[in-house]
Amino acid sequence: MSLKLSSESVTLELLTVIVTLRIDGLRKEEKIMATKFTGGCLCGAVRYECSADPIFMGNCHCRDCQKTSGGAYEPDIGLPTEALKITGAVKYYDTKADSGNTLSRGFCPECGSSLL
Ligand SMILES: [Zn+2]
Ligand SMILES: [Zn+2]
Repeated sequence: MSLKLSSESVTLELLTVIVTLRIDGLRKEEKIMATKFTGGCLCGAVRYECSADPIFMGNCHCRDCQKTSGGAYEPDIGLPTEALKITGAVKYYDTKADSGNTLSRGFCPECGSSLL
């Protein structure tokens, strides 16, 4: 995989889902590599858990991710869609990625936390 991580294109081609790094208790690297992890939004209405290892991890510096995160980059991890279980209502906002694919960004409609 190239160093220039284009999460937008990877998302659809590998049938992965991108989760913004807001994993509970994420302070050490071994937490990231754990086979199973959980996370959620600020208010707790949306929770997710994953039963598989990440396919990739990285920071995306594209303009859309900067706007989404409010910072210089967005930390993302790619996960197999079937390994991710989401509870709670997620609202999605679709944009056209540089690859031409549609990228759906999921967030909590209650607290606005960027999640997927
Ligand atoms: Zn929330
Ligand atoms: Zn991006």
